[in-house]
Amino acid sequence: MADIDALTSSAYSQALEVIASVEPRIAEATRQELSDQRGSLKLIASENYASPAVLLTMGTWFSDKYAEGTVGHRFYAGCQNVDTVEALAAEHARELFGAEYAYAQPHSGIDANLVAFWSILAHRVEGPWLEKAGSKNINELTDADWESLRHELGNQRLLGMSLDAGGHLTHGFRPNISGKMFHQQQYGTDPETGLLDYDVVAAKAREFKPLILVAGYSAYPRRVNFAKMREIADEVGATLMVDMAHFAGLVAGKVFTGDEDPVPHAHVVTTTTHKSLRGPRGGMVLATEEYASSVDRGCPMVLGGPLSHVMAAKAVALAEARQPSFQTYAQQVADNAKSLAEGFLKRDARLVTGGTDNHLVLLDVSGFGLTGRQAESALLDAGIVTNRNSVPSDPNGAWYTSGIRLGTPALTTRGFGHDEFDQVAELIVHVLQHTQPGTTKAGGPSKASYVLGDGIADKVRDASAEMLDKHPLYPGLVLS
Ligand SMILES: *Cc1c(COP(=O)(O)O)cnc(C)c1O
Repeated sequence: MADIDALTSSAYSQALEVIASVEPRIAEATRQELSDQRGSLKLIASENYASPAVLLTMGTWFSDKYAEGTVGHRFYAGCQNVDTVEALAAEHARELFGAEYAYAQPHSGIDANLVAFWSILAHRVEGPWLEKAGSKNINELTDADWESLRHELGNQRLLGMSLDAGGHLTHGFRPNISGKMFHQQQYGTDPETGLLDYDVVAAKAREFKPLILVAGYSAYPRRVNFAKMREIADEVGATLMVDMAHFAGLVAGKVFTGDEDPVPHAHVVTTTTHKSLRGPRGGMVLATEEYASSVDRGCPMVLGGPLSHVMAAKAVALAEARQPSFQTYAQQVADNAKSLAEGFLKRDARLVTGGTDNHLVLLDVSGFGLTGRQAESALLDAGIVTNRNSVPSDPNGAWYTSGIRLGTPALTTRGFGHDEFDQVAELIVHVLQHTQPGTTKAGGPSKASYVLGDGIADKVRDASAEMLDKHPLYPGLVLS
C-alpha cells in the first residue's frame, strides 16, 4: 500500500495548484484556513476535524449529478453510482447505530429535523386524514378538503427543550420555523441544579399532549435518559424524536448505551454528521420501519436534490466510525470533557450543572465579571476558539450571554489528553482573570468591549503553541 501521508500531501498540493490556476485567492484562503485551524485551540463543541479521506471524497464529480428520489427509484436517469453511494451510507448508518432505517440525504442537521417533522406529520396526521376521507390520492382532493387537511397539518403540537436550557432552535423556539409551524411548548432544566427534571417534562406532556416530543440538545452538559423520554411520549401518545446532532459520536462510539442510546427508544432520530461523528458537513435521519416510508419522501418534498458527493463522504466517515478505534476516540472525548471540567472546578470556576458527563462543558463566566461575549472575544485574542452561550435564565440574554460553551471532540481528534485539557482550563481561567469589562462611550459598563491585560494573549498563545505542535493537525499533510 502506498504511503497515505505522501498521497494526501500530493493530492492537496496539486488540487490547490489546479484551483489557483482559476482563482488564486480561493487557493490562498484555503491554505490560510488550514494554517489557522492548525494554530488555534478549537473548543467549539459542534466542530471537529474530518479525516483526509472524508474530505477528499467530497471533491468529486458526484457533485455534478442530480438524484432526487430514493435508491433505485429516482426522478433522473443515470443514478446507478449514486445508488451505490447512498445505499452504502445508509447500510453503514444502520449497522453502526443499530437502526431499522437510515436516510442519508439531509444536507444539514436542520434539514434532517425538517424531514423528521414532515415525516411525522405525514405518518400521523396526513395518512389518517386521507384514510378517513376515503381517498388515498392527495391529488384528487377538493379545494375544501385540501384546506381542511392543511388546517389539520398546521395545528399540531410540539414539546421540546428550550434554547436557553440547551435545546436547539429547531426544537420549538418561537422565531424558528418549528415554533411557527407548531403550537409549541418548551421544557427547561431545574433552576437550582441545571439538570433535566423528567417529572416536569412528564407533567408538561400530560397537560399539553404534544404530537411530537423532542429530546436532544446543543448545550446541555449531561446525558439524557431516553428510555424515560419514551415512557413519557408513550403515555401521552406522542412520537419521540431525538436530535442527537451533538452527541452522535458518543452514540456511535458506544459511550452512550442502554437508556442513554436514543436509537432503540426513539421513533425518529436526527443527526448531523460533522460534529462528534467526525464526518462531512451534513445530516441524517434514522427511523423505525413505521416511519421509513414517510422519511423517504424527504426529497423532493422537503429537501432539494441530495448532495451525492457528501453522501459518499458520509459513507466513508461511517465506515471509519465502525472501526474499534472510533470507540477509543469517543471514550477519550468524554474522559477529556471530565478533565476539562475538573480543571475549571479546581480553579474555582463555575460550571452549569457543576460538571459534565458528555463531550461539553458550559462555563458560567459571570463569576469573572464578564459577559459571554467579552469572554469569547478575549479568548479569541489569545488563540482559543469558543462560542458564547446562554446559561439557564441568563440575565444577559441570547446575544451577550453569561456563558462559554466548550467541547472536546476536535482537540481529542488531534490527540489531546488529560494533561492538555487541564492546561487548557488553566489557560482559559488565566485569560478570564486578566480580562476587565470595558466601558461604553457614555462611560457606563459595556457588555461587549473588554480590556485584556498586557502580554496575556502572547503568553497564552505561546503555551498553546507547545501543545498544538505536540499534537499536529493532519500530521502527515505537508503542502508544497
Ligand atoms: C448543530 C445542531 C443542529 C443543526 O445542524 P446544522 O447542520 O447546522 O443544520 C440541529 N440540532 C442540534 C441539536 C444541533 O446541535
